[in-house]
Amino acid sequence: MTSLTFYGGTGEIGGNKILLRDGSTSIFLDFGKNFGRERQFYDEPYLSPREEKHLIYLGILPKIRGLYKKDDAEPSIDAIVLSHPHADHWDYIRYVKNSVPIFCGETTKTMIVAKELASAGQRAEYKIANLTSNQGQQVFKKFQTFRTGDVLNIGSIKLEPIHVDHSVPGAYGFIIYTSNGVIAYTGDFRLHGPKATMSMEFIHKAKQAHPDVLITEATNIVDAKMVSESEVEEKIRHIVSTTRRLALAGFYLNDIDRLTTFWQAAKTNGRQLTVSTKQAWMIHNLQGDKHLNLFGLEDPNVLIFQREKKRQYEWEKTLKQHYPDKIVDSYYVNAHQDELLLAASFFDMNEMVEVQPEPGSVYILSQSEPFNEEMEIDYNKLLNWLEICGLPLYQVHASGHINPDELKWAIREINPGKLYPVHTERPKLLATYIRDLKIEVVCPQNGMEYPL
Ligand SMILES: [Zn+2]
Repeated sequence: MTSLTFYGGTGEIGGNKILLRDGSTSIFLDFGKNFGRERQFYDEPYLSPREEKHLIYLGILPKIRGLYKKDDAEPSIDAIVLSHPHADHWDYIRYVKNSVPIFCGETTKTMIVAKELASAGQRAEYKIANLTSNQGQQVFKKFQTFRTGDVLNIGSIKLEPIHVDHSVPGAYGFIIYTSNGVIAYTGDFRLHGPKATMSMEFIHKAKQAHPDVLITEATNIVDAKMVSESEVEEKIRHIVSTTRRLALAGFYLNDIDRLTTFWQAAKTNGRQLTVSTKQAWMIHNLQGDKHLNLFGLEDPNVLIFQREKKRQYEWEKTLKQHYPDKIVDSYYVNAHQDELLLAASFFDMNEMVEVQPEPGSVYILSQSEPFNEEMEIDYNKLLNWLEICGLPLYQVHASGHINPDELKWAIREINPGKLYPVHTERPKLLATYIRDLKIEVVCPQNGMEYPL
């Protein structure tokens, strides 16, 4: 028998964990953190889940025999396959036994490991990777990386990963061959981004495979913004060109397209993009990735902004060794306001005391992906800071998720026997929106098993 069981991503954005059983072979497609449901029970950092048992008790992690670190039984899962490096698609692998192989794209592995090396506060037993002066860099998971064109054979299941465009690099969709039919899984994708041709390639290949089942994301079935990355670039360039003093920008660490957009806007306006140390660490780690075509930290239009802090972690020391002349502090920013485009998130706001943005400075907010459930609270707090600093707020953003009309077109093209919408708060809206396509739509219930 072949079946699909959806844990997370059902009627909600993110937290995808899709169990595919095919005879004696079992794999998970994604194993993401469920930000929304964790927030219903926890209040970080005062109360957070310490061990997997807490999340299992709450029904946030699925109860699967032998899968987790504190279960002595043999794992009943053969592998976990990750679609892309957003935490709502991978973060819970930290609770899974290190012996369970993790399949993902090369860039996904690099970004997960880089993020892990620069994150303090994880309990040692749940770390995916670590960097210390004694041991150097250690990766604890059994990663097996793939690229488009590879074929993965896991037991009776055959997977073909095909790159797609999303707001993070290293994103893939999959065509999956089982004993009882073909499944296509989009992961998260879009058709209005700079690498739309990659998503088109996925749609084309999925169509050729005549899938019995399509599992698609449908995040933007409500609240679609209809802005492309090139429009974002044009707007940001314009805002920076009319800014007389300091231009500040808030955007996500792993949105490499947006990072590149800000770098270009800085360059064309004769400014230096001043990235955070965490962004610099990510850029440093991605330098070996030839497919990304990402600028380097030695670029004359780039500086690294170091927050005032007492303790230096190992990754920060590494950065300092590699780029000693590139690191600047708040006082430098204060003295060079019309020469810089400063990446400053809500978490950098304490630095504004020394930065002291002068009249004529602006703040550009360029993020709104809904998987960051904390956004709304941070947003109001950010506004309070901007008010004190006298910084007007511009919002410029293009989503990482496909627009409704393009999604409908993609579904019509692929023409599956059955459709499972995930990663959306309104799967039923999608079902009624595409009712004229005469495709059976099943809105999956959390934890329910659906035979193929
Ligand atoms: Zn995503």
